[in-house]
Amino acid sequence: MFESLSDRLSGIFDGLTRRGALSDKDVGTALREVRRALIEADVALEVVRQFTEAVREKAVGAEVVKSVTPGQMVVKIVHDELVAMLGEEAEPVSLNAPSPVCIMMVGLQGSGKTTTTGKLSLRLREKQNKKVLMASLDVRRPAAQEQLRQLGEQTGVETLPIVEGQSPVQIANRAMQAAKLGGFDVVMLDTAGRTHIDEPLMAEMAEIRDAADPHEILLVADSLTGQDAVNLAESFNKRVGVTGIVLTRIDGDGRGGAALSMRAVTGKPIKLMGTGEKMDALEDFHPKRIADRILG
Ligand code: GDP
Repeated sequence: MFESLSDRLSGIFDGLTRRGALSDKDVGTALREVRRALIEADVALEVVRQFTEAVREKAVGAEVVKSVTPGQMVVKIVHDELVAMLGEEAEPVSLNAPSPVCIMMVGLQGSGKTTTTGKLSLRLREKQNKKVLMASLDVRRPAAQEQLRQLGEQTGVETLPIVEGQSPVQIANRAMQAAKLGGFDVVMLDTAGRTHIDEPLMAEMAEIRDAADPHEILLVADSLTGQDAVNLAESFNKRVGVTGIVLTRIDGDGRGGAALSMRAVTGKPIKLMGTGEKMDALEDFHPKRIADRILG
């Protein structure tokens, strides 16, 4: 495994016992290690650059207090800046709109959209006592609608009955109508993904958005996405407009750099994280936990 960043930084400053302000040169050496750690954690290069500049500004000239070593001091500045850029606290999914509140889930195929739709629906029902209707708008993969129906059966959350031959927009309209008539509080729309971003996918998402007027558009992304995270988040945000991000597979062994990349390029909060395959494995996002992982 990698030597942790804290150890590496302490190493750099080992020979340095003098106190006082951190010099440009000391900070420069430390920042090279920070850069390396961020790249190893799969943070996108342009975000690494922005981040190290922000840290440089804070660190150069900072007074080293007596109780810590210069290395510890830089680690603390880096850690605090990571937490700040990740958003300090998780922002909850908002239901602050007239019922039925529509939540649209978007993302690439295999990112965990359907699973997260099931998890979030269950959570809204169990923790917030909401009556939730789930609908799959994925008409490309024949098994997709059936997968959501089974999740509904497993969790006891209602799903929109499947009607063959309808377009995603038609299904979205039918879901909103059924929710109004049935007195549902929340409609969860699980959209189709693709293996990569393309224009037909974005056009379909924009069309569904215009029809359903969702209150939340949550981009579901695998935390192992790596360097593609920026492109993914930028594309969905520019074309469809996301209101929040859900990071899945936090239980995997990635270092979580995608979190920083996506948050930095969109400015949109990471609201939730998926911590496993089970239906209860959904948690509020913890910036401190991700900052610790990124630093290693
Ligand atoms: P979709 O194509 O975006 O709808 O993706 P799915 O919801 O079908 O998920 C793809 C696979 O990832 C499934 O096997 C899920 O069980 C798994 N998965 C989803 N979220 C998580 C998570 O947070 N952790 C883990 N370990 N697996 C997940």
